[in-house]
This record gives sequence, C-alpha cells and structure tokens, in this order.
Amino acid sequence: MFTLPALPYAKNALEPYMSEETLNFHHGKHFQTYIDNLNKLISNTEFEKMDLKEIIEKTAEKTEYTAIFNNAAQSFNHGFFFECLSPNGNKKPNAELLKKIESAFGSYENFEKEFKEAAVSQFGSGWAWLAEDKSGNLSVLKTSNADNPIAHGLKPLMTIDVWEHAYYLDYQNKRADFIDTFLKHLINWK
Ligand code: MN
Repeated sequence: MFTLPALPYAKNALEPYMSEETLNFHHGKHFQTYIDNLNKLISNTEFEKMDLKEIIEKTAEKTEYTAIFNNAAQSFNHGFFFECLSPNGNKKPNAELLKKIESAFGSYENFEKEFKEAAVSQFGSGWAWLAEDKSGNLSVLKTSNADNPIAHGLKPLMTIDVWEHAYYLDYQNKRADFIDTFLKHLINWK
C-alpha cells in the first residue's frame, strides 16, 4: 500500500508563485488519486511488494500494464516534483552538480534555456526533466503524460510538471510564465 507523501512545506508556503488552492487540488486531489488508483490496480498482484521505481521499470512500454505504469509513474513524478519545489530551497545546484551542468550545457543559464524550451514545447500534458545516464552524462528531456526518465533507464535530477492542473489556477494558459517562475523562485536543488 502506498500512502500520499506529506508536502515538505505548508500549503500556502509557495505563495504568491503557487497558490494554496493549486496545492489543495494538485497534491490533495490529483496526486492522491494516482496513489489510490495504483493501490487498487496492484492489490493481490506481483507488484504489491515492489517500490515505485521497480514497478515503473517492470511495466514501462508493456501494453498489458499501461494503467499500472501510468499511476505508478504519476505517483513517482508527483512525489519527486513536490520535492523539487521550496519557498527557500537551493536556487543553484551544489558545486559538483553545477560543474557537470556547466560542462554539459555550457553554463547554468544555457541549462535553464534548454529546460524551459523542453517544458514550453511539450505538446499537451507532460513533464520536462534534467536526467543522468549510467555514465553520469546529463540531458534535458521532455516526456508525455506519465512517462519519465526511469522508464528509459535514466535517473531524474530535476523536473517540472507541465500538465495544466499544475499551473492553470495561477497562470491560466501562460505556461511559459509558470516555467520562468519555477526556475527563478520555486526550484529546489538537492
Ligand atoms: Mn501534476
């Protein structure tokens, strides 16, 4: 049984950049629904004893497991996303990761540009990510719907949710403004 992870900050802590109302729906309703659906779908199956990463790896691109994949991946994606936000988090990565970002993208500012481009250009619902492969190479990618880097053998390091439910109450159709605000005020590097 999976349970909804508590938010690591108060529901109004991200205002004015992300409203309490958005978090009430996004964390309290959308995220909760993915967890509830996943629990129902894996009840009395081999997946019941696995963690989210294992379920994602075992169900990715298997058409018979699409519903389990979608709900497991969305459960992981949301837990990870809410940890990537903070009212007073690290706005820059630690020295080691910053060095890797600078060597992969030229500069932190270029990384922000690529990340924003991926997030803006994701058509419809999805996510933008910074991810790392097994050799330590970094890349920016965008994924549709529930898809994520784990399903492609990559380790996620940063993400933004660009489903409309993530920003519509606060930004309406202005996804680019939400992404700029995320990068400037909300991002929380480990
Ligand atoms: Mn979401």
